[in-house]
Amino acid sequence: MSAPATVAAEIFEKWLERFADDVRSGVAQRVASHFRDDGYLRDILALTWDYRTFAGPAEIQEGIESASPASWPRNLRCPPERIAPRILRRSGRTVLEAYFDFDTEVGRGSAFVRLQPDQPGDDGNAEDPRVWMMLTTLQEIRGFEERIGDRRLDGTAFSYKFGGDNWLDTRRKRAQFADRDPEVLIVGAGQAGLALGARLAQIGVDTLIVEANERVGDNWRNRYESLALHNETWSNHLPYLPFPDSWPTFLPKDKLAGWLEAYAEFMELNVWTSTRLVGADYDSGRKTWRARLRTADGAGRDDNRDAPGHGDRQRGRRADGTEGPWPGRLRRPGHALQRVHQWPRLRR
Ligand SMILES: Cc1cc2nc3c(=O)[nH]c(=O)nc-3n(C[C@H](O)[C@H](O)[C@H](O)COP(=O)(O)OP(=O)(O)OC[C@H]3O[C@@H](n4cnc5c(N)ncnc54)[C@H](O)[C@@H]3O)c2cc1C
Repeated sequence: MSAPATVAAEIFEKWLERFADDVRSGVAQRVASHFRDDGYLRDILALTWDYRTFAGPAEIQEGIESASPASWPRNLRCPPERIAPRILRRSGRTVLEAYFDFDTEVGRGSAFVRLQPDQPGDDGNAEDPRVWMMLTTLQEIRGFEERIGDRRLDGTAFSYKFGGDNWLDTRRKRAQFADRDPEVLIVGAGQAGLALGARLAQIGVDTLIVEANERVGDNWRNRYESLALHNETWSNHLPYLPFPDSWPTFLPKDKLAGWLEAYAEFMELNVWTSTRLVGADYDSGRKTWRARLRTADGAGRDDNRDAPGHGDRQRGRRADGTEGPWPGRLRRPGHALQRVHQWPRLRR
């Protein structure tokens, strides 16, 4: 480690020790005292089970006080796999940037901080830096951890099966939703829909993604010919599957389109293309949603055509989804929200 990096790590470790002590005390005012007067706390689900931003120590203290006991952080630690603490210039200030991880009763969290000395004019090497910005995020829910790394499925279930459905048969059937409703309906297989679908699949939430276009990636293919992404490739990764190291810094739109389509396949996402959400009704008594989908041949029309590409299960379905026994009659999209409220650990 170079000398400045060692200095940054030392300053940060000492700060984290003091901060962790105050977090352990359970006193919000002591925690908030680590923030500068112009400091910000941004929370994504970890402390508030919401997306919230608090500005200045008083608001920050209130925000921290609103955290339920289940969301109070503990076991603060430096994550070895993240970028080491470093001192650099940001928006005209010298700051120390670093990450730390923490646990709550609900799950595992990760935080990013920018520390700055309290006195104007001091540089980032000062001994007693305060928080200019802190971002706290919930990364994982206990009991619903992503099935990745050591938790991945071993896949042997299919190697002992000499009759019946193999992996591909099972995959196709699951994507058809002929015998069940999805727990979550995602509208749009753009980068957000695909990333969300991949995350939900890994925590075992049965998800259907509907995409109005004929192919996943058409939202990029159909744009102007010379389009390339505006950000560098490494800032555009989707979860679990980073772009290859050999790819250009700025991705041409059709290359990205192909990647999105392949991503849906590799991540085994259930996507119905040429399927448009045309409406949804909420049943407040049952607290469920019913979605109306218009499938391929019915695009722009209400008729009874089968939708190519979706196999047998499309037969008999009204294309506008308003009548008839069709399996896409979704009783429970929005169910994820209900499930969240049903998880006892998340109740306030
Ligand atoms: C020129 C340009 C360059 C950009 N460069 C970058 C970059 O480098 N990095 C970056 O992060 N962002 C970049 N962006 C922004 C990025 O494109 C968007 O933020 C991103 O596409 C949003 O993703 P999304 O999945 O939310 O929406 P979209 O990509 O718009 O996807 C929405 C999908 O929903 C489908 N859909 C809509 N309505 C329905 C319906 N009723 N039923 C079914 N399907 C439906 C659409 O067909 C579409 O496929 C750029 C944008 C442009 C225009």
